[in-house]
Amino acid sequence: MRILTFGPNGSGKGTQGAIVKGKYNLSHVESGAIFRENIKGGTELGKKAKAYIDKGDLVPDEITIPMILNRLQQDDCKSGWLLDGFPRNKVQAEKLDEALQKAGIKLDVIIEIVLDRETAKNRIMGRRLCANDPNHPNNIFIDAIKPNGDKCRVCGGALSARSDDQDEAAIGKRHDIYYNTVDGTLAAAYYFKAKAQAGGVRYIELDGKPGVKEVSQDLMAKLG
Ligand code: AMP
Repeated sequence: MRILTFGPNGSGKGTQGAIVKGKYNLSHVESGAIFRENIKGGTELGKKAKAYIDKGDLVPDEITIPMILNRLQQDDCKSGWLLDGFPRNKVQAEKLDEALQKAGIKLDVIIEIVLDRETAKNRIMGRRLCANDPNHPNNIFIDAIKPNGDKCRVCGGALSARSDDQDEAAIGKRHDIYYNTVDGTLAAAYYFKAKAQAGGVRYIELDGKPGVKEVSQDLMAKLG
């Protein structure tokens, strides 16, 4: 099973992705998480990426595209993957499509979580990151995933806020990129949507406004 996920920052894409990943036992390939691990580890890649990430800009395609295409070739991706945070613009979509065609790999499902910009922004400012597992959902503004005091609600790990999540200008930039239907992330989603309709790939649209549980029930029902 190979899945692409789209949704603005703050739409619950990571949370829903983690649920789907668990259901189908997929490798969760999350571009933002790979960058954050590299920043934490002080690698060359991390050093290059940090300045872009802190400002809410995209890390340049010449760094990001090979990083993800290489990641998808690793052994743990052989039996399936869920891609989160990539493709983030139209060029990345075209390059991914090209690489998949070359490798003879077909997508199975594309998921788009639809959410308005204002709601997404408020959610981002409340989200907290668990030190033990970035997929443990914690958000101080959402009752269903409220942290346990200042600790992770899943494992009790230490929580922190991402620096790019507390900066309104950076959030604005990330959303400008996401909602851009000409060459931004929605353009990437629609690129694959057009292909999906022609090629038997399922394109699932979800309303991201309800709580985590409702959205995941909707998702599971549509996944079948
Ligand atoms: P995320 O965790 O998906 O919100 O990503 C955090 C940051 O990592 C983004 O704001 C970008 O700076 C960078 N990033 C993540 N994915 C990509 C991508 N596909 N292309 C370029 N930059 C990315």
